[in-house]
Amino acid sequence: MPPAVPASDKGDEAVKKTNQNDPAAQRSAGGVCYELARKRVKNINLRIRRDGSVAVSAPRRTPAARIDAFVAGRAEWIAKARAQVLAAEAEAQRPCAVSCEEALALFTELSDAVFPLFARVLDGRPPVLKVRQMKTRWGVCAPARRQITLNLRLAEKPRAAAEYVVLHEYAHFVHPNHSPAFWAVVARYMPDYKARRTLLKAPAPTKP
Ligand SMILES: [Zn+2]
Repeated sequence: MPPAVPASDKGDEAVKKTNQNDPAAQRSAGGVCYELARKRVKNINLRIRRDGSVAVSAPRRTPAARIDAFVAGRAEWIAKARAQVLAAEAEAQRPCAVSCEEALALFTELSDAVFPLFARVLDGRPPVLKVRQMKTRWGVCAPARRQITLNLRLAEKPRAAAEYVVLHEYAHFVHPNHSPAFWAVVARYMPDYKARRTLLKAPAPTKP
């Protein structure tokens, strides 16, 4: 599945590496506060950390004014990306309205409906279903283990959207990638999958 958060950090590793270089300097440009680290890099790189802070790395010789201009020129994009990152973090902190047991019961029902379509590929044995809280994915298929893991929060989404994710993961038993052939399988069994996919972005219902 595509990542739920488009702009996010690559983890704390990068921050630790930064500390081995010159100490990061706090700067601001175009109304954006950012942390500038000088590194052995070729280009100016900008990323939004999970806490919403802005980290920029730049080659040692690039003039500070050019880096400021780079950041200021992206102020609008940064504001949007920060809002998305912070909203995703807040969403991750929110307690789930559905229990793992309830989610597994729902997913099993949806899976049982899809299984007959893929029974031949699976040698007539249904896959193992797991429920997990995942930050960036709605579902994961491990064909070698005949296992589908679904995000607990998928149970809070409209049923049509959850049906799409279940079918999507089953289609990975045929094609373990997102090739055109994979999408053809999805479309064959669910012609309206694109409309269903957009429902994943809808806010969670207030009642399960
Ligand atoms: Zn996929």
